[in-house]
Amino acid sequence: MYADVLVELKAKNIDGTFTYKIPSNLINTLKIGCRVQVPFQNRYLEGFVLDIKDNFNEQYKVKEIIKQIDEKPILNKEMLDLGLYMSKKTLCNLILCYQTMLPSALKAKNGFNINKKYLTYIKLKEEFIPSNESQKEIYNILKNNELVLKSDLTKISVSSVNTLLKKGLIEEIKDEVYRLNNTFKKVGNKVTLSEEQELAIKEINAANKFTPFLLHGVTGSGKTEVYMQVIDNVLKKGKEAIILVPEISLTPQLVETFKNRFGEKIAILHSNLSNGEKYDEWRKIEEKKVSIVIGARSAIFAPFTNLGIIIVDEEQTSTYKQENNPKYHAIDIAIYRAKKYNIPLVLGSATPSIESYTRAKAGIYKLITLSKKISDTKVNYTLVDMKDEIKNRHAIISRILEQKINECLNNNEQVILLLNRRGYSTVTTCKNCGYVHKCLACDIPLTYHKSSNTMRCHYCGYAEPILKKCPSCGSTNINSYGMGTEKLVEYIETNFPKSKVIRMDNDSTANKGSHEKIIRDFEENKYNILVGTQMISKGLNFKNVSLVGIINGDASLNMPDFRSAERTFELITQVSGRVGRYDLKGDVVIQGFNMDHYSIIKASQNDYIGFYNEEMKIRKMLKYSPYYNLSLIKIKDKDYDLVLKEANKIADYLRNKKLLDTYILGPSTGFMPKINNVYEMQIILKYKKSNEIIKELNNINEIYRNNKITIDIDINPIFL
Ligand code: ADP
Ligand code: ZN
Ligand code: ZN
Repeated sequence: MYADVLVELKAKNIDGTFTYKIPSNLINTLKIGCRVQVPFQNRYLEGFVLDIKDNFNEQYKVKEIIKQIDEKPILNKEMLDLGLYMSKKTLCNLILCYQTMLPSALKAKNGFNINKKYLTYIKLKEEFIPSNESQKEIYNILKNNELVLKSDLTKISVSSVNTLLKKGLIEEIKDEVYRLNNTFKKVGNKVTLSEEQELAIKEINAANKFTPFLLHGVTGSGKTEVYMQVIDNVLKKGKEAIILVPEISLTPQLVETFKNRFGEKIAILHSNLSNGEKYDEWRKIEEKKVSIVIGARSAIFAPFTNLGIIIVDEEQTSTYKQENNPKYHAIDIAIYRAKKYNIPLVLGSATPSIESYTRAKAGIYKLITLSKKISDTKVNYTLVDMKDEIKNRHAIISRILEQKINECLNNNEQVILLLNRRGYSTVTTCKNCGYVHKCLACDIPLTYHKSSNTMRCHYCGYAEPILKKCPSCGSTNINSYGMGTEKLVEYIETNFPKSKVIRMDNDSTANKGSHEKIIRDFEENKYNILVGTQMISKGLNFKNVSLVGIINGDASLNMPDFRSAERTFELITQVSGRVGRYDLKGDVVIQGFNMDHYSIIKASQNDYIGFYNEEMKIRKMLKYSPYYNLSLIKIKDKDYDLVLKEANKIADYLRNKKLLDTYILGPSTGFMPKINNVYEMQIILKYKKSNEIIKELNNINEIYRNNKITIDIDINPIFL
């Protein structure tokens, strides 16, 4: 018997299976989907068994498998097929696709091993006459208890326990334990559904085949309750559910709600878990100990085998697409799996992506709308043009926002302030010669961080001590400007005596658990102002918040990306949704210099469809998605001349194909021409028909397989 084994090899020029002989002792145990260790050239490698066959034409001597790593397959038939699909769809090596689908503990990698954890119990096997005091004590305990923790008995005497085990008078029983201990308090589900919720639930529950729904529900319309009820319905039928959320650590309150409703039926998968914890959660799913998985992007690969529904919350979120290879989109995988199981798929959002809403309008997705908030509290929007404020001292906080903050603090209510930029100041220059302090590796200004007294590059992570004198002219006349969250906190503390400010951004939440603590402290009113980056825009529910201030409402419009208007609309809508959820009236103040932009105006009118219509006009005019498909080719290397040469070669190659209805833009330097000393050029493709283009992109991949230069292809990129 022979096995085809897909091995893990760093070299990008090999992506295929090799045939090995199955040694006689493994013939009965080895299955497709198990990992094995095999000899390869002059070393040992791990790989996945993809096929087992009786015959193989041995033209030359075939080597034998050395050992079988997994007792039972870790990739089932569905997962093996899914990997193939993903590999084709993203133009990525098959092995990398399989590795992505598994928790690190199960990846085919040499010398990397995480063990299961066990608790060992002792059980009395035969009646016996104790031969000493400690044996007597052990005997008495075991006589009265069926199972006793071994560690409790070895405390009495290790040697007695060992002797009794050896004689076969007592026996050991191992019980697998999971590292992550999910605590929860079970609460009932006694809510009276709104009319819209009821209709939504009915429609989703009625779907008895593959049906993709777009659940467009304004913030606070009670989407979570809809999710929970349709999941409940699926569980009652003995089936399983996956719910994806943008990032677990950003949505602790949603997770809490789910845990309280479903208790121990849930496994949780997210990036903050240790490898051991992830492995345990994965096994809970595999062993059918749970029937719901809640997690970020990669939870879509949860190895359930009897799925009943898949839900993707905040479906427009960019992190559902992986930036590294394989550049898969979780919604594509969700569609693939929902089709396999012939089940409903629910994409939920207050601000659906333009592409998803277009599909809903075309009838590809079934549109369900929740148009009303559960609470009918009014939210009042104020737009402030900062051009009118800059002349007076209120350059950071406008007069109207200042007044509203003070009112709020006087009423003992809370405020959320959004500033989408971390650090203290964003640019440092020399007043004498005009020198701008930049990251040498990325060529962008370093951000000054006051709390750590460092200058940091937000792209490559480089950090250095603060600048004392100008590297160019030696002057000590150094100036920092531009505002980040640290400076805003300082400004608020100085100007609002009643304020107790807490900051939430990537820096203040770097430690495990700090994110949850900030949320808890704010919830318990230990602070009255929460300053944060977009991290605070999603999923948070605070009863006492009555004011949201958006300090730089138009900042995201300045990003060179065709989705910048969509992101601005989303950000404003999401963060505005943090007020008006309960009885307290809500106020939203949006500041900026570009306040007549339709994304800001429509967001302040809660008019998604108005925004969608405006945005579609521009997409059509500029030939962007959803009117055209997009692909991005990046050409990267440390050698700039080489990058330029190869980028031109690729662009010429594509242009010479004269593909119909296809536009080839570039090569050009992207938004970041250099990251970490690697130069980057890009070619953008816009096209109506995918088949030909994908074939050509595949060709380009093949041509550059053995080249030292990196060609990075992204089909339907999220950022462009
Ligand atoms: P969304 O996710 O749509 O922004 P949520 O699901 O967070 O909204 O719901 C908003 C709030 O309304 C939550 O506090 C939730 O507990 C509450 N809620 C949801 N449905 C109901 C209902 N039928 N009756 C009362 N309260 C509800
Ligand atoms: Zn200088
Ligand atoms: Zn850098």
